[in-house]
Amino acid sequence: MNRRSRRNPEWKRGLRKGLLGLMLVLGAFFWRKNQEAGQQIRTGSESVRSAEADPVGRETKRLALTFDDGPHPYYTEQLLDGLADRGVKATFFLLGENIEGREDIIRRMHEEGHLIGNHTFYHVDVNSLPLKEACAEIQDTSSAITAITGQQVEYVRPPYGSWNKELECEVLMIPVFWTLDTLDWKVKNADQIVREVLSDVEENDVILMHDSYRTTVDAALRIVDALQEKGYEFVTADELILE
Ligand SMILES: [Zn+2]
Repeated sequence: MNRRSRRNPEWKRGLRKGLLGLMLVLGAFFWRKNQEAGQQIRTGSESVRSAEADPVGRETKRLALTFDDGPHPYYTEQLLDGLADRGVKATFFLLGENIEGREDIIRRMHEEGHLIGNHTFYHVDVNSLPLKEACAEIQDTSSAITAITGQQVEYVRPPYGSWNKELECEVLMIPVFWTLDTLDWKVKNADQIVREVLSDVEENDVILMHDSYRTTVDAALRIVDALQEKGYEFVTADELILE
């Protein structure tokens, strides 16, 4: 007993030292592993991303420009002119209340290959409404667009990103969110918007803008010029989210 009680503390001390040493060694080991893994994850995810985006050996990096709240009676056409000059297809999420009287602009969007989606009728948070009213917001907007383009509307950008599955109502609607928010409605400064997008942009980004401002039209076209130079291709949002 005596020997044992004397040896015990030593044994415990030894064990403690051993454990401490082991923890330090393991800690250092895992820290290094993490550093390596961090690099591998970054490289790995990049290669996974390009493999996903590149099922047929496509080398171009792709992006989607999306414009909400339109059409605007003046700026949307300026934007369409600039996009046409550059061979760029974009996505427009329209407000039902902005459609009447601007049918020609919407027809042009459709004819020039842009994707047209739904942004509700009165720019509402659909989750804050009774289901019936929320459905009417979506359905009335889709009907108004279809009456002009002859095409079903399949995509919705819910204002404030607020959505739930029930809101598909009777028709299947695919919500399209965004990965890069330019805050153009707040910034209203083309230089700043361009600078921030160019520094943050990544392949496969869905960029959120609003075609209701002169500064957004300027910024969007400058962003296109700069990124086309870097090998980016601009596609409609469905092409990015369906792959
Ligand atoms: Zn909006």
